[in-house]
Amino acid sequence: MKPISEIFSLIEKPKNIVITFHQKPDADAMGSGLGLYNFLIQFGHTVSVISPTNWPSFLNWMPGSKNVVDFEMHNDKAKTLLQKAEWLFCLDFNVLNRTKRMEPVIESLLATKILIDHHQQPQTEAFDYGISDISKSSTAEMVYDFIIAAGYSDKINAETAECLYAGVMTDTGSFRFNSTSANVHRMIADLKDKGLEHSQIHENLFDNFLEGRFRFFGNILLNRMDVFYEYNTALIAIPQSDLIKYNVKTGDTEGLVNFPLSIKGIKLAAVIIDRGDERKSSFRSKGGFDVNTFARKYFNGGGHFNAAGGKNIEPLDEVVRKFKAAIKENKEQLNS
Ligand code: 5GP
Ligand code: MN
Repeated sequence: MKPISEIFSLIEKPKNIVITFHQKPDADAMGSGLGLYNFLIQFGHTVSVISPTNWPSFLNWMPGSKNVVDFEMHNDKAKTLLQKAEWLFCLDFNVLNRTKRMEPVIESLLATKILIDHHQQPQTEAFDYGISDISKSSTAEMVYDFIIAAGYSDKINAETAECLYAGVMTDTGSFRFNSTSANVHRMIADLKDKGLEHSQIHENLFDNFLEGRFRFFGNILLNRMDVFYEYNTALIAIPQSDLIKYNVKTGDTEGLVNFPLSIKGIKLAAVIIDRGDERKSSFRSKGGFDVNTFARKYFNGGGHFNAAGGKNIEPLDEVVRKFKAAIKENKEQLNS
């Protein structure tokens, strides 16, 4: 993978561009993707944004979101766009299998592949150009840095600013996590100078849930949460029947893992959900416990030091058993 600065001089030449990101995109994946989209369309490129899967409806306020193509739902259209692409931007993922069924298609493309990402251990051989920096708060911050470094500060319009803000704000836990550097605050100050109205974005993202999501949370916290104090660990395991019973939609479970993590003394919080085709896990930690390594070792996943995830094909009971065995194995680190 060559440095991304090598494409700066080619940015203005009109071409077919596709932007994609990880499956079940969060606000950083969608925000960095649409931030880049709203920047690039100003040069007269033909730009398409393709999501590997569907996405939570609370992202639908983002400028440009109506043009995002769902690879699973509009497969032929997405494949045609991908085949025509001269540049393919891959945002907010480190390994191609994070694009689910798009992986073999991406592998077969002749397009120049450009990675912008902040996850650990990227599959760099899969990309022609790119930047991978685990010290960065978010991919949205990296897209901002990319635009500034390429010399296009004046092309950050309100649409770009709103999308990038959403990515940085959510990936930093509203500017709470350690990754919130002085550079992040300088970036936000610059976006404010460019006219960003941030409070509306918080409302769009956090005050748009349906009542059912909280009824679901209430039941889950009451019935599905186990706290293992001797391991400073809390686990929520959700059977598929709960998802059906409460009519849970994509994105409704986002943020659930933060409840067990905020219990006094808890250093590791996990949510394992039976999604039917796989058991999807989310891990969060506080302090020195490395959930990237934990997710990689036991749950076929990865991510960041304090936030990671994984997936298993075994039944839920078996994955829960695995989790309990894993925390036993890590008792010392969880108690240090
Ligand atoms: P979340 O728990 O919010 O789904 O994910 C937390 C972090 O872990 C994200 O940065 C995400 O990219 C990463 N992650 C989640 N699931 C997986 C997975 O199955 N594989 C890998 N490699 N990373 C994941
Ligand atoms: Mn991210």
